[in-house]
Amino acid sequence: MQLVFATNNFNKLKEVQSLVPEHIQLLSLKDIGCFEDVLETQDTIEGNAIQKAEYIKQHYGYDCFADDTGLEVSALDGAPGIYSARYAGPQRDATDNMNKLLKELENTTDRTAKFKTVIALHLNDELSTFTGICEGTITKEKRGDKGFGYDPIFKASGFEHTFAEISLEEKNVVGHRGKAVRQLVELLNLL
Ligand code: IMP
Repeated sequence: MQLVFATNNFNKLKEVQSLVPEHIQLLSLKDIGCFEDVLETQDTIEGNAIQKAEYIKQHYGYDCFADDTGLEVSALDGAPGIYSARYAGPQRDATDNMNKLLKELENTTDRTAKFKTVIALHLNDELSTFTGICEGTITKEKRGDKGFGYDPIFKASGFEHTFAEISLEEKNVVGHRGKAVRQLVELLNLL
């Protein structure tokens, strides 16, 4: 079975393909010839995931799932949230984003934060959503070179190391995307 995962982020594809059963072949946006920017203009993480999945179904005709993720920092009233990718500007640069967040939290003792992923699945004309949350804290400095995005400054609760210092397998067990993908896989296994 082929299913489109509406992303061109190689790290995400790798994370998700390792959780999906082998009989499901994931196609990326590039694989289906989608090179335009898929809009994310909603004001919630869930809304953005649904918008992306519906766009692919409407314009390309494929059954599809899309994810949207936000980092919600308690001391910043849930920011950057839906603005996580462009927190430090339209260049969407991970280092700039992390530097801005570290600066914002410079004098803050409450460093609790959570990652939230919503996956929207458009399958056989039905829409389903799956949510995964990972609670943790923002470190005082960047550590590690694995993963992507905010991984070097995020430590999941109960962990000594940041997401950028642990293996992909460990991240998938406790991580937001892993939790959401496992719910998706449960449904796909019923097909
Ligand atoms: P998107 O919704 O996947 O585009 O992610 C929004 C922002 O959160 C981007 O800046 C990503 O780099 C970041 N992000 C998404 N997932 C993760 C993750 O698992 N670890 C660290 N940062 C992430």
